[in-house]
Amino acid sequence: MTEPRWQRERFAGRVLLVDGEPRARARLEAALAERWPVAAVATGAEARGVLARGGVAALVTAASLPDEEGVELLSWAAANTPTVARILRSDARAGLSAAINEGHVWHVLGVEAPESELVEAVRGSLEHHEHERDARSCQERYQELFELAQVGLLCATPGGRLLEVNDALARSLGYASPGAMLDVELVELVCDVAQWERGLDILGSGAALADFELALRHSSGDEVSFLVNAALRRLGTGEHLLEASLLDVTARRRHEQERSELHEHLFRVQRTETVGALAGGIAHDFNNLLTIILNCASTLGERVAHRPELAGSVGSIRDAATRAASLTTQLLNFARGGGARTTKLQVNDSVRDVVGLLSETIRRGIAIGLTLDEALPDIVGNRDEVHQCVLNLALNACEAMGAQGRLTITTRRGVWPQPGDDQHARAKAGEYIEVAVADTGPGMSPEVQARIFEPFFTTKRRAGATGVGLGLGLAMVQRIIERHDGSVFVRSVAGQGTRVSLLLPIPAARRAPPPAPAPTRVVEPESSLIILADDEPAIRRVGKRILERERFTVLTAENGEDAVARVRENPEVMLVILDLVMPVMSGEEAYAKIREFNEEARFLLCTGHAVTRSLHNILRDARVRLLHKPYSIAEFTDAVRGVLEDSGGRG
Ligand code: ADP
Ligand code: MG
Repeated sequence: MTEPRWQRERFAGRVLLVDGEPRARARLEAALAERWPVAAVATGAEARGVLARGGVAALVTAASLPDEEGVELLSWAAANTPTVARILRSDARAGLSAAINEGHVWHVLGVEAPESELVEAVRGSLEHHEHERDARSCQERYQELFELAQVGLLCATPGGRLLEVNDALARSLGYASPGAMLDVELVELVCDVAQWERGLDILGSGAALADFELALRHSSGDEVSFLVNAALRRLGTGEHLLEASLLDVTARRRHEQERSELHEHLFRVQRTETVGALAGGIAHDFNNLLTIILNCASTLGERVAHRPELAGSVGSIRDAATRAASLTTQLLNFARGGGARTTKLQVNDSVRDVVGLLSETIRRGIAIGLTLDEALPDIVGNRDEVHQCVLNLALNACEAMGAQGRLTITTRRGVWPQPGDDQHARAKAGEYIEVAVADTGPGMSPEVQARIFEPFFTTKRRAGATGVGLGLGLAMVQRIIERHDGSVFVRSVAGQGTRVSLLLPIPAARRAPPPAPAPTRVVEPESSLIILADDEPAIRRVGKRILERERFTVLTAENGEDAVARVRENPEVMLVILDLVMPVMSGEEAYAKIREFNEEARFLLCTGHAVTRSLHNILRDARVRLLHKPYSIAEFTDAVRGVLEDSGGRG
């Protein structure tokens, strides 16, 4: 790599002396040599050779050389080695003006001028020359920086006509070269003219723009966001020049946006999880209490059946408890993974079920329109949950419309996400069934829409009253649909109705059908011992009473460990009823322990929670059944009979 020219010249400092007359040459050479290294030659030809080899800072020549005129040599030097200072020794000024004006000759010195004057002339020329060289190298470096900079740079008139633009800016805006942007008016490029005028006002006030946000139009029409730093510079001529650097922050903005959306999503998920865990804990306790209330109410109901004035009250207690139980179930479904019972199902069936339900309760003024694709394939999912989702959306729509309006439910098949459409943009690419529930209600403001998936967010709570809305509907819909690997999208404009779209994935492969049910067997209650384990004394008491009424023999246990001990003492036990959540040892652990030494016993596992993965595994054991809390007496006894009568085993 060769050194840049400006550097080589800075450190080269020879003076080339040309004179055909040997004595004069020797005299001048001696004088110059005290200050600089000197090369002394006689002819123009020799001088050209030395100049061509480089390293010469100044050329001093006699007016007349043996082979040419000094002026000729200087003109040649001006053309070929322009950075060399050029001094002519001549008494005749006439005829030189052209050469001087054109810059071929820098300095003219009398032939008889003392040596000191020559030294002074060379020194002055070299100094002047040094300045020129510095200025030139600055200009070169500036140009290099300007062109190579990764940040966009521009010079413009104060009004914004582009005078100079670098490569980076041209590239950011989609122009083939900087030249293609010259003479463009900045105002034609800015996306927001008012913002640009604000920038001009700041500049006009004498201040600089610091990290000023400005979007410019890409040649494709897209917006490109820049951070602009700019100032008006006053030139020596009194004119002003706008100089600006523009940092392209479009990609950064996009990342920031994505990060903030992700953060928001994570935050929502975390909050939902927390609320879920909380709700689940409370609902678990409620379920125990409601089981007791329901069971006692049933027992009481039977006893007072002949006294209508009391039976009515008992009925009210039972109704209220049943309603509370349904709310608790909602909470629980929301709290944890819901049921894991997935089957093949037809989405259209769920829609028809919901419409059937609605048409009995819905107001006269609301029309229902169905547009169902009858050729939809089955999906794999939880029937109850899908039903619940459609019902929730339909109820929301009806509640929003009030007395009058039109509810439209549409199903269709398609591939999402669809290019150029922001609906379901986050869905994993694939084939889905869409269920869309649209209404002609009042729609939602953006503020409401931003919060609708929050658990317990509702606009239906009236001051002082317990409102109709629990605010769990859409939160639950979202959890269910996400659990089905689907996607929810809401489009709503205040005053123009709402459309909620659910996507449920169409499975690629189908599962094998479940095995055929085994034949049943007959149970003799009198000879059947049942062990009932629950940490809640009232549940033990009530459960024991119910089972004894059915003529079973019942032993109770307070926790899992206790239950294991009871089974050891009574190996003939037919059925072990285990509450899943118990202190000391959980129902699941007790089941595993008992299973180690007792092959015969059946199990009824009671839970108020959703089915977990480990529980799901246990349920594959044909000797095990699950009973959801809270349960009625009939459900309880049915479940007990069911698990006992089922022949169990595999074949
Ligand atoms: P809830 O129905 O118990 O209020 P949701 O989670 O089902 O709870 O809905 C939350 C909120 O979303 C509602 O309170 C309502 O403000 C708004 N919303 C839901 N669906 C619609 C709809 N179809 N039209 C207008 N607003 C709706
Ligand atoms: Mg709702």
